[in-house]
Amino acid sequence: MSFRSLKLIDPLLRALDDLGYDEPTPVQKQAIPAVLAGRDLMAAAQTGTGKTAGFALPLLNRLTLEGAVGPLGVRCLVLAPTRELAEQVFNSFRKYGAHVPLRFGVAYGGVPIEPQIGKLKKGLDVLVATPGRLLDLQRQGALTFAQLQTLVLDEADRMLDLGFAADLDAVFAALPPERQTLLFSATFPDTIRALAGRLLRDPLSVQASPANAAARTVRQLVITTDKKSKPELFLHLLRERGWSQVLVFAKTRKGVDQLVGLLQQQGVRADAIHGDKPQPARLRALARFKAHDVDVLVATDVAARGLDIAGLPLVVNHDLPTVAEDYVHRIGRTGRAGATGEAISLVGADEVDLLKAIETLIKQVLPREEVPGFEADHRVPSTGTPPKSAQPAGRKPVAKPSANPAAKPGAKPAANPAAKPAVKPAAGPRTPTRSPRPAGGFAPATPAQPVSPRTKPATRIPQGAVVVAAGRGAKAVAKAAAKSAAKTGGRSGGKPASATAKKRT
Ligand code: AMP
Repeated sequence: MSFRSLKLIDPLLRALDDLGYDEPTPVQKQAIPAVLAGRDLMAAAQTGTGKTAGFALPLLNRLTLEGAVGPLGVRCLVLAPTRELAEQVFNSFRKYGAHVPLRFGVAYGGVPIEPQIGKLKKGLDVLVATPGRLLDLQRQGALTFAQLQTLVLDEADRMLDLGFAADLDAVFAALPPERQTLLFSATFPDTIRALAGRLLRDPLSVQASPANAAARTVRQLVITTDKKSKPELFLHLLRERGWSQVLVFAKTRKGVDQLVGLLQQQGVRADAIHGDKPQPARLRALARFKAHDVDVLVATDVAARGLDIAGLPLVVNHDLPTVAEDYVHRIGRTGRAGATGEAISLVGADEVDLLKAIETLIKQVLPREEVPGFEADHRVPSTGTPPKSAQPAGRKPVAKPSANPAAKPGAKPAANPAAKPAVKPAAGPRTPTRSPRPAGGFAPATPAQPVSPRTKPATRIPQGAVVVAAGRGAKAVAKAAAKSAAKTGGRSGGKPASATAKKRT
């Protein structure tokens, strides 16, 4: 199937030609005809599937053929959860709309509002905005929705997760009820279904890719180590393996800054992207990374959402994400649009429950390896076979503090009396994490193997007991689980999503 057969106008086909797009992706094949026909859409599609062109092309087509915008007007509004995604979608509209006479704008917080007000004076055919700044603009009388034809919600699940529910409600209330609405979401929890039920009229459902699609196309590896060894291990790998363009995810803004500080001290060209950085600095860091002026870009999850870096070869998880589904989003930064990619996760014993949640979501046990000199003293228990009832495309909350995953009924503590008193988290026989490395550096999933000579004594845990061992790792697991429990409680307790605190990561 060609783009021409989708009946797009010539100026759009020319832009696609300029970009070298030969044929539509699956989401584009489904979405373009429906959006051209004016239908509402409910699409399960994440970044990397070509979803932006899936809605941008037919909307540009319609906007070009159907009238012009007046002062302060907005004809198509795209709402996005983060500044980065807003910028990316805006740039996509500009790319795809390079040969059509339409006006595009983008608006998000963290930068002066006046230039945005200035751009809106003549009206915009397409405005891409984050919900908070959009409302600021509306309250200041900088725009009117009287001409609005289409509303697009991009990464709707993320907008709710970030606490934008109340802002979204305020926006919906201000929009004309007669409009086309397109809802894109990577996942469809109940909150999104309820939102879709309220907003969409006879929508076409489009399923572009399952939540774990990227997980199947990107080569993945876990390197087990101790938490404290991770920065040095990363530096070692960077040098030893000659990595030249690597996007690194860390859990916190502080963690990002510390890693970047260490790397820069060691002469590595590294930069950071996180919510504490002003927007111009974030955009600059991204531009330098794309231009190869920076070799390592370290980011938090929210800041990295929507980053589109052509040909990115490698993603490293310095820390695992606390929400399993973010793993899929992270590794989806590489292996985009058919390219190959690699994703390496440095995993400490304190992250075993997060690892298990990820493996359950992606329905595979990730191959493991250790790097000589950086072996884990606090071994990462085997995660074994993921349960058959693998998670559907819903957000996976942080795993609970687990019942000892490796403990078997009647497992005996190790015999060596001279050995250290306990290993945390407590576990059964050690499954060696090192496995033979094939040429590409990616080992196959490690089956259970005999106890290694380095086996450390295990603490006996009653079967089914919940283990929150004292000391390293346990604290983080307990904290993450408490956070998750609080979150789940908030939702199941019927608390409106708008009450969720806005995250800034
Ligand atoms: P998206 O999922 O919209 O973030 O797009 C992911 C990447 O795929 C972007 O770099 C797009 O430029 C690229 N892309 C989108 N559609 C196509 C296509 N039909 N052929 C080739 N690349 C595409």
